[in-house]
Amino acid sequence: LRKWLKEYCRRNGLLTLSVFAVAAGFALGFTLRGMNLSTQARMYLSFPGELLMRILKMLILPLITSSLMTGLSAMDSKASSRMGLLTVTYYLWTTFIAVVVGIILVIIIQPGSGMEMEGSRLGGGPIMTSADALLDLIRNMVPSNLIEATFQQYKTDLIPERKIVPKTLDPSFVYVVPDERNPGDGRSVFLELTPAPEIIYKGVQGSSKQMNVLGIVIFSATMGLLLGRMGERGLPLVNVCQCINECVMKIINAAVWYFPFGIIFLIAGKILEIQDPSSVGKKLGMYTITVLAGLFVHGLILLPFFYLILTRKNPFSYIRGLLQALVIALATSSSSATLPITMKCLLENCHVDRQVARFVLPVGATINMDGTALYEAVAAIFIAQVNDYELDFGQLVTISITATAASIGAAGIPQAGLVTMVIVLTSVGLPPDDVTLIVAIDWVLDRFRTMINVLGDALAAGIIAHVCQKDIPAAEKVGKHSVTVTF
Ligand code: ASP
Repeated sequence: LRKWLKEYCRRNGLLTLSVFAVAAGFALGFTLRGMNLSTQARMYLSFPGELLMRILKMLILPLITSSLMTGLSAMDSKASSRMGLLTVTYYLWTTFIAVVVGIILVIIIQPGSGMEMEGSRLGGGPIMTSADALLDLIRNMVPSNLIEATFQQYKTDLIPERKIVPKTLDPSFVYVVPDERNPGDGRSVFLELTPAPEIIYKGVQGSSKQMNVLGIVIFSATMGLLLGRMGERGLPLVNVCQCINECVMKIINAAVWYFPFGIIFLIAGKILEIQDPSSVGKKLGMYTITVLAGLFVHGLILLPFFYLILTRKNPFSYIRGLLQALVIALATSSSSATLPITMKCLLENCHVDRQVARFVLPVGATINMDGTALYEAVAAIFIAQVNDYELDFGQLVTISITATAASIGAAGIPQAGLVTMVIVLTSVGLPPDDVTLIVAIDWVLDRFRTMINVLGDALAAGIIAHVCQKDIPAAEKVGKHSVTVTF
């Protein structure tokens, strides 16, 4: 028995601890909710969780840059462009499928029909048009200052064109003051919170601190491709990136043992923050069920089916290797923060080719969000149903396209999808302020859609590695510099 226990702990100990940590976090959070803790006590309680998030976020930048540079530098141009094309095509295709699944379910289930909900139907006019959103996406791809792109800035895409002076601050909203010193490039406005602002703008919670990961991905991928073409001359930089990558993976391997502890307090802290969950549950029950059913169908039926068809391997044993990453996605609600763990799972448990994982994962964590796209489509149609607003076929097509685009534009951070959903709503003439109807339940749905986002990226890596397997050894030969690193 002792031998079995030892073996079990070696293989599954961390995962088991993490699963227990999630349950313990919920139990602790709900137990403490009744105790009316002071703000300071809550802050102390959330501290271990905050530390967990900080560790993960700390690793994102070195991991993305070093992975992309080493991954792509080892491939010849033919192999890398084939892999790039396949990856982007696969990502777009699966995101679109996710949207279609969401649309079909929400039309069949009709969660919003005949529902009376109080909410602010302000219809404040379009905040951000689809063209604005597209420009913002392209703007982010080309960061004007690379160093600045790595900073976390208060940033929002959702600023109603309405100035308000609130008497009390409603926790479901973020209140923002555009910084006069940074008049804003297009829609990206730098924000600051002041205790008693005189004129402030009201935005949906989800506007948040973030760095421009998309810009960093594009720059690092370009550098990686160029380093590959430079051969011997590029070797010093490739070696530096190699070392950084190796160190990051070592940090991850050590830090994972702290994670179960951090998860408990991360979840408990969040539970203490939310408003009364029982009242929300009744009103938004069918909507929640629709989103979860869609995520289930897409993540556990369709994506594994694509994996099976394209690789002829068992998708569920592959997914088993990803469980640790899925638990972290559930706990953090951030696919970017989960990226280091997803990378670890892919390399150590799923044995995906390094070059492929180093390219496919960082790109996926930035642009591939099947769960978010599905949720955006369901939420938009749900809001239309609540408003008794008939959508014609053309509008459904518009929703499917804008939901795909909005998910690409969403950052891999908590509740980013709620923010970019305004694009979907305005594209079909729905009142953008109606996102307030679903804010209360978003913290739950966010966790599940993040899991599906992470799962989608990881399955894509397995598929691309399988399809491109012939290219990889050839690429290494051409690239001359061998990139075998053992963690
Ligand atoms: N939280 C999600 C993620 O990080 C994005 C979203 O849908 O809000 O993948």
